[in-house]
Amino acid sequence: MKFIETRGNDGVHPGEVTFSEAILSPIASFGGLYIPKELPSLGEEFLTKHLNSSYKVLAKDLLTVLGIDIEPLVIDEALSLYDKFDDPSNPVPVVKVRDDLYVSELYHGPTRAFKDMALQPFGVVLSSIAQKRGDEYLILAATSGDTGPAALDTFKNRANVRVVCLYPDGGTSDVQRLQMVTEDASNLKVIGIHGDFDDAQSALKKLLGSATFKATLKTKNISLSAANSVNFGRIIFQIIYHIHSYLELVRQNAILMGEKIYLDVPSGNFGNALGGYYATKMGLPVEKIIIASNENNVLTRLINTGHYDLRNDKVIPTTSPAMDILISSNVERILFDFFGAVRTKELMQKLENDRFYALSDDETMKLQGMFSADYCNGSEGKGYIKEAYDSGYLMDPHTATCFKAYDCCATKPLKTIVYSTAEWTKFSPTIANALTGEKDANDIDALQSISATAKLPIPEMIKGLFTKPITQDTVIDKEDIEVEILKFLS
Ligand SMILES: *Cc1c(COP(=O)(O)O)cnc(C)c1O
Repeated sequence: MKFIETRGNDGVHPGEVTFSEAILSPIASFGGLYIPKELPSLGEEFLTKHLNSSYKVLAKDLLTVLGIDIEPLVIDEALSLYDKFDDPSNPVPVVKVRDDLYVSELYHGPTRAFKDMALQPFGVVLSSIAQKRGDEYLILAATSGDTGPAALDTFKNRANVRVVCLYPDGGTSDVQRLQMVTEDASNLKVIGIHGDFDDAQSALKKLLGSATFKATLKTKNISLSAANSVNFGRIIFQIIYHIHSYLELVRQNAILMGEKIYLDVPSGNFGNALGGYYATKMGLPVEKIIIASNENNVLTRLINTGHYDLRNDKVIPTTSPAMDILISSNVERILFDFFGAVRTKELMQKLENDRFYALSDDETMKLQGMFSADYCNGSEGKGYIKEAYDSGYLMDPHTATCFKAYDCCATKPLKTIVYSTAEWTKFSPTIANALTGEKDANDIDALQSISATAKLPIPEMIKGLFTKPITQDTVIDKEDIEVEILKFLS
């Protein structure tokens, strides 16, 4: 599989790159992204062949069909990390919640959110490419709460990779912060910033673009990379579980092979939904992909009106913070697929310059042929959490947004897969509030209260956080980040 660029080629970047190259340098010409030059068609034959395959066997065959330049032994090692999930024989359980509605649980990995699905194997792949090239990489990550813990867990003690993770001090939940500041490995550094997520993110972008910072790293023989969600090394692992979830419905006799379904995805940066789109493009029988958002509803407006409009927008803090995003980076890959490189470049430059672009009516209709969208506010979300709980299913606030979108967008009598992206333990104060009305609980109190109410144990890796020693206690002003990183590297 070769990769080309969403905004065309500038004559400086290579016009086509391999999978490893797209992983190591994820930014293409004109600030664009890499996308597969072509995708194989899987057809019903592939699905039938894997009807009774384990997750890992399905994944291995899919990656083989895609033809990436990673050695089979490395792929095996990467996929073996799914053995650390709650049930190694089925890392992604699919649970029937209502008559036509099934939930695919993507959070059974070590950090209890869906970021593990891609970052766990990605850590092995990136480290192996770095070792093969004899290069040392510094991975910078900025997190609002889920990416940081997942990135630290996957890169911990891996060769040729060091990680610096920036988080807004006071801007994450207790569980998320503890998952980071209790990480103890010599190749990991966690830095709290006085400021919010945008401050952490913009500090990171500044460093990634800084020639002097890169030159300083060069003198230490270190290259800079990023593990953010536009990296295709993450996207590729997010195609697999959509196919797995479809096959689960067939196995559970919910659908017949070939029957169309809806995919209902809680979306921020659009990586999860993009994986579903690529699976559909390769032949997965999908009627439509439903995009669920919170009050930061830029994707709902894009799909329903054709306008990407941030002119009056500021990020609104919500109870589903992993989706508090205005610039949804992977939408660019959809624009490319539908409208080509010239138009994508034009639209993305408009967005950067004017914070606005408008698709034509034809273009909007094309988009609506594949996607539907709706958004769910915090109090509606709590209503869905309570309603599902009363009928026996506990879910987190991100998953809850999908229930609103389902009510609005699943218009045909087809089965729907809702993707659940976080365990209840990661956003417990909001859930406790939804279930019992208690307000402003801290994480440990909310965890205990939900555990008692729902008669569910708190998983060891969450409970253990509250007694683990804190090893990462750096909290600084954003002006001091560069100095702090260089101190860590020397
Ligand atoms: C990252 C994340 C999302 C958003 O996923 P995208 O791929 O960025 O659209 C949704 N829910 C949770 C819990 C997440 O951590």
